[in-house]
Amino acid sequence: MPDSRSPQSSPLSRRAFLGASAAALPACAARPGPPAPPPAPEPAFRLPKVRVSPDRVIRTVVGLRPYRPAGFRVEREDLGGGRLLVHNYGHGGGGVTLSWGSASLAVEELLGDEPPPARAAVIGCGAVGLATARLLQRRGVAVTIYARDLPPNTTSNVACAQWSPFSVSDARVATDEFQLRFQRAARIAYRIFQDMVGTRYGVRWLPNYPVSDAPFGGSATPDPLADLYPESREFAPGTHPFPARYAREYQSMMIEPPVYLQAVLDDFLLAGGSLRIRAFGALDELTTLPERRIVNCTGMGARALTGDDGMVPLKGQLTVLLPQPEIRYITLAGGLYMMPRADGILLGGTRERDVWSLQPNREAEERILAGHAEFFGRMAD
Ligand SMILES: Cc1cc2nc3c(=O)[nH]c(=O)nc-3n(C[C@H](O)[C@H](O)[C@H](O)COP(=O)(O)OP(=O)(O)OC[C@H]3O[C@@H](n4cnc5c(N)ncnc54)[C@H](O)[C@@H]3O)c2cc1C
Repeated sequence: MPDSRSPQSSPLSRRAFLGASAAALPACAARPGPPAPPPAPEPAFRLPKVRVSPDRVIRTVVGLRPYRPAGFRVEREDLGGGRLLVHNYGHGGGGVTLSWGSASLAVEELLGDEPPPARAAVIGCGAVGLATARLLQRRGVAVTIYARDLPPNTTSNVACAQWSPFSVSDARVATDEFQLRFQRAARIAYRIFQDMVGTRYGVRWLPNYPVSDAPFGGSATPDPLADLYPESREFAPGTHPFPARYAREYQSMMIEPPVYLQAVLDDFLLAGGSLRIRAFGALDELTTLPERRIVNCTGMGARALTGDDGMVPLKGQLTVLLPQPEIRYITLAGGLYMMPRADGILLGGTRERDVWSLQPNREAEERILAGHAEFFGRMAD
């Protein structure tokens, strides 16, 4: 992390300079006065600022997070005639993050203890479908992906995508059994993404800074995934550059979907995978496929395809500023977030439940821009 403190400009060095010169001052100037206030704490580090202004906006993108309050669905369904379907959808705001983990669970469901089939179909070509297809290929299966849309036209391309399984389920609805599967999926995915760090897949580690005016304090129920956010520490008021009293720091991976999804698609094709553009209107259309082992990775599309009313869109939008390569950190403040990528600085913070429109919400865009302009305007230089 950059530390731009300079000894010449610190209050300590200024005090030392004044102390050394005191003997040269006239006697009247040396009369004892009220005790000096304690020195203000010095930020332990400084960071380059995001330049936020409407004329730096290059696009606003919208996507529907495939939210399932009960949690993502990985489940077998017998289609009859010796056909087996495994569902793998409903990952909410954490589908890129969890992709390799829930894909592992889905492949376990599909293959069981039997020898892998010669071929299989994956429906959907977002982060979840691609990870599922690649894991099947690694088991020696010839895979065809059938999808209505390909990258860059999937919801996965709209994601930020920070490695963080966020807004995935509702604790009031999700079962303990789901929570265990979720944790297992998160740990598998966390490990696999680490092997993809680098420019080929567009994955890197970045420091995150959540800030708050209230102390963070410990949660009543400890986060079972806390160890997946390493190097966590807190900063006391005045010891960090952010315009809030308290700040935390931890590390997380950032996945750049435009780079990542294309690279995984390339891997899939290089490994002999086939790709077909096809939209399915109902599950029984899957029985016309030549493959008898099928995984359904259709994201929000699964609601119409399967009739799963337990799914609801969480509309999200990102306003993207011109790239600033010097910004290598993430901020999370008051429900807003800033995440830097090679293709722009992402400003977000919306979750509109059960809103199906893919049109940008202009009021939300203005609020997000104004909030970030104020935040970075007040950040210490
Ligand atoms: C603003 C925003 C920010 C986000 N940030 C993050 C983040 O930081 N980290 C993170 O992990 N996640 C994030 N997400 C969530 C993430 O985008 C989703 O969870 C993820 O994209 C779901 O992946 P998927 O592969 O299931 O679905 P999709 O990417 O939507 O892919 C579905 C595929 O299925 C196909 N399909 C659908 N219906 C049919 C059909 N009937 N027939 C044939 N094909 C069909 C589609 O064409 C597509 O190919 C964010 C989402 C939004 C909107």
